[in-house]
Amino acid sequence: MTAWAVTDYRHLLTFSEGVLKVFEEFRQEEAALPEAGGILLGYVRGDHLEVVEATRPTAWDQRLRYLFERFPQGHELIAKARWVSTGGKLRYLGEWHTHPESIPTPSGTDLNEWEKKARARKDGRPMLAVIVGTDVLHVRLVPAASDPLIFAPVEE
Ligand SMILES: [Zn+2]
Repeated sequence: MTAWAVTDYRHLLTFSEGVLKVFEEFRQEEAALPEAGGILLGYVRGDHLEVVEATRPTAWDQRLRYLFERFPQGHELIAKARWVSTGGKLRYLGEWHTHPESIPTPSGTDLNEWEKKARARKDGRPMLAVIVGTDVLHVRLVPAASDPLIFAPVEE
């Protein structure tokens, strides 16, 4: 499933095949697999988001079964490089990480981190947060000053 929407369809979101492939690659299906994550890059089209790239964990990230500690510099460098090479069109949209559960639920730490990051964004845009579970994704948009919006897959 690549198209997602909030209940009133005011915001739509798509994931490219490449992004879904990265999610698939790091899905924590086997018990021994550690958490993984990265940043999400894409285009903003009015109220809609087109996610075209998900970065893979870098060598500096700490990956444990129940913890993914991002080393931000590595991911930021990638975001900056893409931003420059596309003339400011391909931008940072948010972040993704995996959970070893089929229907992923954000932890208290996740919620705190996302709010902090949404408030810290200089462009005032909401932050896109994705958790990759073993069966489904959790997709939410976290604005700096209002309630989060949860996306559900659009049935075709
Ligand atoms: Zn988490």
